[in-house]
Amino acid sequence: MLLKEVVGQQEVKERLLSSYRGGRLAHTQLFLGPEGSGSLPLAIAFAQYVNCASPSQNDSCGVCPSCKKYQKFAHPDLHFYFPTTSTDVVKKEPKSELFLNEWRAYLSKNQGYATQNSWYNFLDVGNKQGTIYVRDAADIISKMTLKAYEARYKVVVIWLAEKLNDQASNKLLKTLEEPPDNTLIMLIGERYELLLATVRSRAQLVKIPPLSDHTVRDWLITSNVEPQTAELVSVQANGNLNKALDLLEHAEEEQSNFMLFRNWLRQCYKPGSYVEIHRTNQELAKLGRERQKSFLRYGLQTIHNALTINHNSGHLVKAAGEELDFTQKFAPFINQANQQQMASLFEEAIYHIERNAHAGILFTDVSFQLVDLIMQGRRVVQKK
Ligand SMILES: [Zn+2]
Repeated sequence: MLLKEVVGQQEVKERLLSSYRGGRLAHTQLFLGPEGSGSLPLAIAFAQYVNCASPSQNDSCGVCPSCKKYQKFAHPDLHFYFPTTSTDVVKKEPKSELFLNEWRAYLSKNQGYATQNSWYNFLDVGNKQGTIYVRDAADIISKMTLKAYEARYKVVVIWLAEKLNDQASNKLLKTLEEPPDNTLIMLIGERYELLLATVRSRAQLVKIPPLSDHTVRDWLITSNVEPQTAELVSVQANGNLNKALDLLEHAEEEQSNFMLFRNWLRQCYKPGSYVEIHRTNQELAKLGRERQKSFLRYGLQTIHNALTINHNSGHLVKAAGEELDFTQKFAPFINQANQQQMASLFEEAIYHIERNAHAGILFTDVSFQLVDLIMQGRRVVQKK
């Protein structure tokens, strides 16, 4: 990673560069910053800089052989240690070295912006929490005793030092105190109070603040996010770039759910629009399972909102603009009876999707039942 690819953190970058230029580079450093502040990408970019063959005043060249390997997170003198746990593939004695391929793929996907949740999701380990084990500590020590292959500095990055268990920390104390020559140990931590005092005291602290709202907003805008959305998301993200990206993804998903759902209902309402309904069903069948479930949950919420509006409690509905307008127009066709039937229909569909139902058949079936239920609502409206 280039330093300029790390979002914001200008002051920290300058401090790191000046300590390096001044020959004051500490050999064990603790990059301490909250989730989404960029502590890990910053550490990697800085390590790339000190190993670059032709760096400029402020950044690596990005093209020398060392930079090229660093960009892929795969330099022979760059070693990563991070929390792991047992998985379907590594059934026992997990440790970082057994997950290097996954780790590199994960870092590439997120440009180094790692979070515990997204890493465990990437490994598909559910709610299991990872640890950095004494096996990892032993690997670190053995890596240190080897001479660097080609780099000026051999670099060991320990992501989430608070996940080092007691045994691992104890085993590492001497190494942290006095790493071999030309070695940099970069501990990355999020929560100071969870780090063992013995580990903290051996590292030079590099404090990384959360990003400012305007840094997050400007970065989103340069990444082609609508200014209005960027503004909203950056305020909610609280300086956490990962959270901003999650919020954005969620907002996009909600928007796409809305468009699809509105289309679908209009078609189900319009007599004889079988061809259009069939086309929408095909589109729904192509979405992944998680997205299909999210679409149906969106439908459940909208039907519920319509009923809420009918009960004169529209102020409780969290929708605005086009979405609110649509829900208000749709509300007259919803009553207690058909709302309950629609809700069971969608809930059952979610149940079947989770059990691998054939999505094409499932959505066709749901559509025809929905046509009936909307017709019932329409008859009620006409009688009034
Ligand atoms: Zn370079």
